[in-house]
Amino acid sequence: MNSKYAGQCLCGEIHYSADVEPLFAGNCHCKDCQRSSGSAYIPAMLFPEKNVFVSGEAKYFESMADSGGTHKRGFCPNCGAQLFAKFSNLPGMLGIKAGTLNDASHYVPKLDFYVAGAATWDFMDPQLPKKQGSPQG
Ligand SMILES: [Zn+2]
Ligand SMILES: [Zn+2]
Repeated sequence: MNSKYAGQCLCGEIHYSADVEPLFAGNCHCKDCQRSSGSAYIPAMLFPEKNVFVSGEAKYFESMADSGGTHKRGFCPNCGAQLFAKFSNLPGMLGIKAGTLNDASHYVPKLDFYVAGAATWDFMDPQLPKKQGSPQG
């Protein structure tokens, strides 16, 4: 499939492709994203789950989100690459981590969020709007 939003994990066991534009695209700088990625932030896109075709089975790790709901992070059980996210307060939605795209240039972030907890060495695009906390607040 030649979707703009197609990608895979590092070992190739999990592939996905979305046939619509993301509903949201932004960089999350929260501490949980730093911890789970080992990096400064997670470049995140949000799609309706029904528009994303996944082959292979991701394993999900659940943690408490800032909202009080749960945040499940989907990763490849073989190579450990993080691909997906599911949020209890956003039913029917699937987050995709933009670094897994075959062509990551299709990711166009609209804002930086949870910047209050950003690492001191986290360089952000000064042109993008910044939110101290949640992108929804
Ligand atoms: Zn893999
Ligand atoms: Zn985060």
